[in-house]
Amino acid sequence: SKEKSAANGPTPMMVQYLALKEKAQDCLLFYRMGDFFELFFEDAKIAAETLDIALTSRGSHGGDPIPMCGVPVHSSEAYLAKLIKAGHRVAIAEQTETPEEAKARGGYKALVSRDIIRFVTAGTLTEDSLLDSWAQNMLACICEIGGEVGIAAADISTGHFEVATLAPKLIAAELARIGPSELIVAEGFAHPPVGAIIRPKADFDSASGEQALRVHFALESPSATAHLTRAECGAAGGLLAYLAHAGQGKMPFLKMPVQRSHAEHMLIDRATRESLEITAGQRGGRAGSLLHEADRTVTGAGARMLAADLAAPLMDRQAIEARLELVRWFHDAPLLRDAVRAALRQMPDIARALGRIVAGRGSPRDLGQLRDGLDAGRALRERLGAMEARPALLDRILPALDGHGAMVDKLMRALIPQPPTEASQGGYIAEGYDAALDSLRLAGRDARQAIAAMEARYREQTGVAALKIKHNAVLGYFVEVPARHGDALLRADSGFTHRQTMAGAVRFNSPELHEEAMRITQAGGHAIAAEAAHLEEMLEAAIARRAAIAASADTLARIDVASALAERAVQSGWCAPIFDSEPVIEIEGGRHPVVESALSKGSERFVANDCALAPADRLWLVSGPNMGGKSTFLRQNALIILLAQAGSFVPASSARLGLVDRLFSRVGASDNLAQGQSTFMVEMVETAAILAQATERSFVILDEVGRGTSTYDGLALAWAIVEAIHENNRCRCLFATHYHELTRLTDSLDALSLHHVRAKEYKGDLVLLHEVGPGPADRSYGIAVAKLAGISPHVLARAKDVLDRLEKGRAQTGGIAAGLGDLPLFSAALDAAEAKVDSLREKLTDLDIDALSPRDALDLLYDLKKLA
Ligand code: ADP
Repeated sequence: SKEKSAANGPTPMMVQYLALKEKAQDCLLFYRMGDFFELFFEDAKIAAETLDIALTSRGSHGGDPIPMCGVPVHSSEAYLAKLIKAGHRVAIAEQTETPEEAKARGGYKALVSRDIIRFVTAGTLTEDSLLDSWAQNMLACICEIGGEVGIAAADISTGHFEVATLAPKLIAAELARIGPSELIVAEGFAHPPVGAIIRPKADFDSASGEQALRVHFALESPSATAHLTRAECGAAGGLLAYLAHAGQGKMPFLKMPVQRSHAEHMLIDRATRESLEITAGQRGGRAGSLLHEADRTVTGAGARMLAADLAAPLMDRQAIEARLELVRWFHDAPLLRDAVRAALRQMPDIARALGRIVAGRGSPRDLGQLRDGLDAGRALRERLGAMEARPALLDRILPALDGHGAMVDKLMRALIPQPPTEASQGGYIAEGYDAALDSLRLAGRDARQAIAAMEARYREQTGVAALKIKHNAVLGYFVEVPARHGDALLRADSGFTHRQTMAGAVRFNSPELHEEAMRITQAGGHAIAAEAAHLEEMLEAAIARRAAIAASADTLARIDVASALAERAVQSGWCAPIFDSEPVIEIEGGRHPVVESALSKGSERFVANDCALAPADRLWLVSGPNMGGKSTFLRQNALIILLAQAGSFVPASSARLGLVDRLFSRVGASDNLAQGQSTFMVEMVETAAILAQATERSFVILDEVGRGTSTYDGLALAWAIVEAIHENNRCRCLFATHYHELTRLTDSLDALSLHHVRAKEYKGDLVLLHEVGPGPADRSYGIAVAKLAGISPHVLARAKDVLDRLEKGRAQTGGIAAGLGDLPLFSAALDAAEAKVDSLREKLTDLDIDALSPRDALDLLYDLKKLA
């Protein structure tokens, strides 16, 4: 009605709404009205559609009805989750005063003031219900300063915070590792990734970023941030500024940033991550991924740590071996392992509870989780600390579980066993913790008993057996009698005062009842205030100890990861890898963990295969029929290396490995479902990246690269790519191909050898053995594979005829590779190309441009053109 009265201009509420919406920018605005968050205009349409709730309208704006929809405050988290999942961001505008306060301030028509108290975005969530317990939730921020890219990333639900400096071309790989759910870039950043949120350039200033870090972490000495680069300070500053904006000044939990150097980790670009399905399967989600297959963790924190470990395998042999030693310790002690895993399984997620507490959204339940988690951590620490022959890593991380005794003790005494999430009703402080609180509760109980006694007395006094004393939210306590007895109590001398007449009943008050009711309310109010004060104090205490609590959480997660990897190794007979300083790969009995487990469900057996690469034999050309197991073989070796450097046992009977600095995996175009860009283009772009980046320490798998184009093009490219990898990159490489012609490369490339997946024909049928053996495949079996696939006999017969003709032709002409007999060596070809460039350069260097006449200049251009 208020809106209608002001049909000519926006109502005061609309004015307030529009101002808040302006502040919310492209976030959906949740506008608090009583028990609802309301959305208006476009926001309402988007939300109604996404949430599948009714779109209504309210009043009008500029003559048109205002679209509106709303969600109840008490169930708003579920709706928020849906909106965030759908890619939206939400600004929450709360009432910042009560209607009573507004009236006292501005009369009865005064509008309750409101303000945005928080922006809820994918990267700034801390609510349990909005997060996956097993996945990290990263917010990342990038900016470029002086030709270097700074990247800062944080998971505010656990306080994890890291920074790094990169060359611009490595951004994509780093972002692929981090997998942020929200990405922020500075205004003016060249080529911002799709979906990135652009923030003002001033937020990313390196000097203010460094200052912001000092302030946030209360760092006294300037040397505390001296190790950070300018780009890192800028990125960290941008991240802190965004968090301050999202929390409207309330900062979430962050640990001191860890400076990552990408030399610490195996470099794995996005295409490789996708093709190897490391943390996500081909269809998105964890199903079918290496992570899913390897993960036997029993806590959310453990699952998050394992995902991070697999996303960033280490380059430091000592660090890897320390992790492996811990896995082996659990591997060799089944009883201990079971006991530790059983204990961990019971533990709450203290990292996330702490995150909520520091973000100012801590509840009694979160404190209860800290109490239970830290106490269980202490018990685990005692048990493990008493064991003999403890691995060095364990000794390094166990002490982080100490030192919480006083706090845990206090929480034990202060809180009931299962504290609630909601604090406003009280009831979470244990009996016996605070004498004053106990007596307030006692007073309330006394008064309730007095009221019960009063009811009996009033029945007797009035002779109305149906008389009851009841309670509701509007009236509080009252006396109720059926309507036909109403008159008796309505008499002036009855001592009852009339309050309400209902259809079948009349309700009264009495001075006595009023008094007891007051006692209950007062005692209750004081009790709730007393509990709130205790809660506040305990939350503060937890916040003060946040670094130590977070360290405990990390220790528990590491123990979970190590014992889970041990469990996994035992389940499928995985072995501990051994590291070698030479760039070798010697895997015996290697298996592909995902394919193996898929086969075992259908009771098929996986055929284990060996792989042996060394500087003198570093490039294997693997041929053989389709479906013969080439891709599987390539990938299993990449996955074994990745698992090993993440500190895990590996699916093989033995593995000796030289550390791999960069891992690349590429799949020929027709297997690749990339959208938009031509698939062959994608294949070539990705292959170009390998040729540019692989080092002698890298490991590359190329699966049928070149097949996305015509046979001649494809063969020519595959040929040149193999040569380049052999001569220039000199990395370890497995190259699967169906181009039989490539086998001729053994003549010119001495570190290349030929291998094939075995197949045989048995009674006219093809049998794929999935065994990798030495030498080239004898034939391609394409027609036999087609038969397996169910192509009809007469089509197969026709294909055989065509093949016979082609093969006869090949015998006469030498086949499509016939012209390659006198191809100069790759290095010679390179030298020739170099020489051309050199003579061009020489001519250009000698040139005195100012001395040239226009005529000479033209002649010169013709000369240069001839040289090129
Ligand atoms: P290719 O790359 O040669 O076409 P794949 O590696 O895609 O062949 O393997 C095809 C199928 O063969 C796989 O899906 C799997 O079911 C089976 N397979 C592959 N390797 C093995 C193996 N080592 N042992 C048992 N089955 C295998």
